[in-house]
Amino acid sequence: QILNHPFDRMFKVVFCGDAAVGKSTLIMRLCKGKFVSNINSTLGVDFQNKQLELDSKRIAVQLWDTAGQERFRSVTKSYFRGCDGVILVYDSTYERSFLNVREWIDTITESTPKKVSIMLVANKIDLRNQMRAEGRRVVEYDDGAKLAKEYQALFIETSAKDGTNSDEALIELARDMKCNE
Ligand code: GDP
Repeated sequence: QILNHPFDRMFKVVFCGDAAVGKSTLIMRLCKGKFVSNINSTLGVDFQNKQLELDSKRIAVQLWDTAGQERFRSVTKSYFRGCDGVILVYDSTYERSFLNVREWIDTITESTPKKVSIMLVANKIDLRNQMRAEGRRVVEYDDGAKLAKEYQALFIETSAKDGTNSDEALIELARDMKCNE
Protein backbone atom coordinates (compact mmCIF):
# COMPACT_ATOMS: atom_id res chain seq x y z
CA GLN A 1 0.00 0.00 0.00
CA ILE A 2 1.63 3.11 -1.32
CA LEU A 3 0.26 5.47 1.33
CA ASN A 4 1.68 3.51 4.21
CA HIS A 5 5.03 2.97 2.60
CA PRO A 6 7.55 4.74 4.81
CA PHE A 7 10.03 5.48 2.01
CA ASP A 8 9.97 7.03 -1.41
CA ARG A 9 13.01 5.13 -2.55
CA MET A 10 15.39 2.39 -1.41
CA PHE A 11 19.01 2.10 -2.42
CA LYS A 12 21.48 -0.71 -1.96
CA VAL A 13 24.96 0.60 -1.25
CA VAL A 14 27.91 -1.75 -0.85
CA PHE A 15 31.18 -0.91 0.87
CA CYS A 16 34.45 -2.23 -0.49
CA GLY A 17 38.17 -1.57 -0.30
CA ASP A 18 41.13 -3.26 1.35
CA ALA A 19 41.00 -4.73 4.84
CA ALA A 20 41.37 -2.28 7.74
CA VAL A 21 40.72 0.92 5.78
CA GLY A 22 37.73 1.65 8.02
CA LYS A 23 34.66 0.33 6.18
CA SER A 24 32.92 -1.11 9.22
CA THR A 25 33.82 1.93 11.29
CA LEU A 26 32.31 4.22 8.66
CA ILE A 27 29.11 2.17 8.60
CA MET A 28 28.90 2.38 12.40
CA ARG A 29 29.56 6.12 12.28
CA LEU A 30 26.74 6.54 9.75
CA CYS A 31 24.23 4.38 11.61
CA LYS A 32 25.04 5.07 15.25
CA GLY A 33 26.47 8.58 14.91
CA LYS A 34 29.58 7.72 16.89
CA PHE A 35 33.01 6.12 16.70
CA VAL A 36 32.88 2.44 17.53
CA SER A 37 36.28 0.79 17.91
CA ASN A 38 37.00 -2.92 17.76
CA ILE A 39 34.16 -3.98 15.55
CA ASN A 40 34.14 -7.73 15.23
CA SER A 41 33.42 -8.21 11.55
CA THR A 42 32.85 -11.93 11.85
CA LEU A 43 29.77 -11.19 13.95
CA GLY A 44 28.53 -8.61 11.48
CA VAL A 45 25.13 -8.83 9.88
CA ASP A 46 24.92 -8.41 6.12
CA PHE A 47 23.74 -4.84 6.14
CA GLN A 48 22.62 -1.89 8.25
CA ASN A 49 19.76 0.43 7.44
CA LYS A 50 20.11 4.17 7.24
CA GLN A 51 17.43 6.72 6.47
CA LEU A 52 17.96 10.11 4.99
CA GLU A 53 16.04 12.89 3.38
CA LEU A 54 16.98 14.22 -0.01
CA ASP A 55 15.03 16.99 -1.76
CA SER A 56 12.16 16.26 0.66
CA LYS A 57 12.07 12.61 -0.39
CA ARG A 58 12.52 9.88 2.20
CA ILE A 59 15.34 7.58 1.19
CA ALA A 60 16.17 4.26 2.82
CA VAL A 61 19.68 3.02 2.25
CA GLN A 62 20.99 -0.45 2.90
CA LEU A 63 24.68 -0.30 3.80
CA TRP A 64 26.34 -3.62 2.99
CA ASP A 65 29.59 -4.64 4.66
CA THR A 66 32.00 -7.24 3.30
CA ALA A 67 32.17 -8.90 6.73
CA GLY A 68 35.93 -9.21 6.32
CA GLN A 69 35.89 -11.32 3.14
CA GLU A 70 38.48 -9.05 1.52
CA ARG A 71 41.05 -10.43 3.94
CA PHE A 72 40.87 -13.67 1.97
CA ARG A 73 40.48 -11.94 -1.41
CA SER A 74 37.08 -13.52 -1.66
CA VAL A 75 34.79 -10.58 -2.28
CA THR A 76 32.80 -12.18 -5.05
CA LYS A 77 31.00 -10.57 -7.93
CA SER A 78 27.69 -11.55 -6.35
CA TYR A 79 28.45 -9.16 -3.50
CA PHE A 80 27.89 -6.27 -5.91
CA ARG A 81 24.79 -7.72 -7.55
CA GLY A 82 21.85 -5.35 -7.66
CA CYS A 83 23.63 -2.50 -5.97
CA ASP A 84 22.84 1.11 -6.85
CA GLY A 85 26.03 2.57 -5.46
CA VAL A 86 29.43 1.67 -4.08
CA ILE A 87 31.46 3.32 -1.35
CA LEU A 88 35.05 2.41 -2.21
CA VAL A 89 37.29 3.20 0.73
CA TYR A 90 41.05 3.55 1.03
CA ASP A 91 43.20 4.58 3.97
CA SER A 92 44.79 8.00 3.33
CA THR A 93 47.69 6.97 5.60
CA TYR A 94 48.39 3.70 3.81
CA GLU A 95 49.41 3.99 0.17
CA ARG A 96 48.98 0.31 -0.67
CA SER A 97 45.23 0.60 -0.11
CA PHE A 98 45.14 3.52 -2.54
CA LEU A 99 47.13 1.64 -5.19
CA ASN A 100 44.58 -1.20 -4.99
CA VAL A 101 41.67 1.10 -5.83
CA ARG A 102 41.98 0.42 -9.59
CA GLU A 103 41.60 -3.28 -8.97
CA TRP A 104 38.48 -2.66 -6.90
CA ILE A 105 36.99 -0.53 -9.66
CA ASP A 106 37.67 -3.31 -12.18
CA THR A 107 35.89 -5.79 -9.94
CA ILE A 108 32.91 -3.48 -9.58
CA THR A 109 32.70 -2.90 -13.33
CA GLU A 110 32.92 -6.61 -14.10
CA SER A 111 30.26 -7.39 -11.50
CA THR A 112 27.49 -5.04 -12.49
CA PRO A 113 26.01 -4.58 -15.95
CA LYS A 114 24.25 -1.33 -15.09
CA LYS A 115 25.90 1.96 -14.27
CA VAL A 116 26.53 2.26 -10.55
CA SER A 117 27.50 5.41 -8.73
CA ILE A 118 30.89 5.17 -7.06
CA MET A 119 32.02 7.32 -4.15
CA LEU A 120 35.76 7.05 -3.62
CA VAL A 121 36.50 7.74 0.04
CA ALA A 122 39.89 8.66 1.51
CA ASN A 123 39.44 7.73 5.18
CA LYS A 124 41.49 8.37 8.36
CA ILE A 125 42.33 11.96 7.50
CA ASP A 126 42.50 12.66 11.26
CA LEU A 127 45.67 10.56 11.29
CA ARG A 128 47.22 11.94 8.15
CA ASN A 129 48.76 15.15 9.49
CA GLN A 130 50.49 13.29 12.24
CA MET A 131 51.87 10.72 9.82
CA ARG A 132 53.06 13.43 7.47
CA ALA A 133 54.85 15.16 10.33
CA GLU A 134 56.59 11.90 11.13
CA GLY A 135 57.84 11.80 7.54
CA ARG A 136 55.65 8.83 6.64
CA ARG A 137 54.19 8.56 3.18
CA VAL A 138 50.54 9.57 2.94
CA VAL A 139 48.00 9.92 0.15
CA GLU A 140 47.16 13.53 -0.58
CA TYR A 141 43.79 15.00 -1.63
CA ASP A 142 44.88 15.67 -5.22
CA ASP A 143 45.92 12.06 -5.78
CA GLY A 144 42.50 10.79 -4.74
CA ALA A 145 40.62 13.46 -6.66
CA LYS A 146 42.59 12.74 -9.84
CA LEU A 147 41.95 9.00 -9.67
CA ALA A 148 38.24 9.53 -9.01
CA LYS A 149 37.97 11.83 -11.99
CA GLU A 150 39.60 9.27 -14.23
CA TYR A 151 36.78 6.84 -13.45
CA GLN A 152 33.99 9.41 -13.22
CA ALA A 153 33.63 8.60 -9.57
CA LEU A 154 32.77 11.01 -6.78
CA PHE A 155 35.43 11.77 -4.20
CA ILE A 156 35.52 12.80 -0.56
CA GLU A 157 37.93 12.67 2.38
CA THR A 158 36.58 11.42 5.71
CA SER A 159 37.38 10.49 9.25
CA ALA A 160 35.17 7.78 10.69
CA LYS A 161 36.87 8.56 13.98
CA ASP A 162 35.91 12.22 14.37
CA GLY A 163 33.00 12.13 11.93
CA THR A 164 34.38 14.50 9.30
CA ASN A 165 32.35 14.19 6.07
CA SER A 166 30.88 10.77 6.82
CA ASP A 167 27.26 11.87 6.35
CA GLU A 168 28.26 13.98 3.36
CA ALA A 169 29.79 10.94 1.65
CA LEU A 170 26.49 9.09 1.75
CA ILE A 171 24.33 12.09 0.89
CA GLU A 172 26.41 12.98 -2.17
CA LEU A 173 26.30 9.37 -3.30
CA ALA A 174 22.52 9.26 -2.82
CA ARG A 175 22.16 12.40 -4.89
CA ASP A 176 24.12 10.76 -7.70
CA MET A 177 22.18 7.48 -7.47
CA LYS A 178 18.94 9.44 -7.76
CA CYS A 179 20.20 11.03 -10.98
CA ASN A 180 20.99 7.59 -12.42
CA GLU A 181 17.40 6.43 -12.18
P1 GDP B 1 37.55 -2.53 7.71
O1 GDP B 1 38.34 -3.80 7.74
O2 GDP B 1 37.77 -1.79 6.42
O3 GDP B 1 36.10 -2.71 8.02
O4 GDP B 1 38.20 -1.58 8.82
P2 GDP B 1 37.69 -1.28 10.31
O5 GDP B 1 36.43 -0.49 10.29
O6 GDP B 1 37.66 -2.56 11.07
O7 GDP B 1 38.85 -0.31 10.84
C1 GDP B 1 40.19 -0.76 10.95
C2 GDP B 1 40.90 0.02 12.05
O8 GDP B 1 41.02 1.40 11.69
C3 GDP B 1 40.15 0.01 13.39
O9 GDP B 1 41.11 -0.07 14.42
C4 GDP B 1 39.43 1.34 13.41
O10 GDP B 1 39.17 1.80 14.73
C5 GDP B 1 40.42 2.23 12.67
N1 GDP B 1 39.78 3.37 11.99
C6 GDP B 1 38.74 3.32 11.13
N2 GDP B 1 38.43 4.52 10.66
C7 GDP B 1 39.31 5.40 11.21
C8 GDP B 1 39.54 6.82 11.09
O11 GDP B 1 38.86 7.56 10.37
N3 GDP B 1 40.57 7.34 11.82
C9 GDP B 1 41.36 6.57 12.62
N4 GDP B 1 42.34 7.19 13.30
N5 GDP B 1 41.18 5.24 12.75
C10 GDP B 1 40.18 4.66 12.05
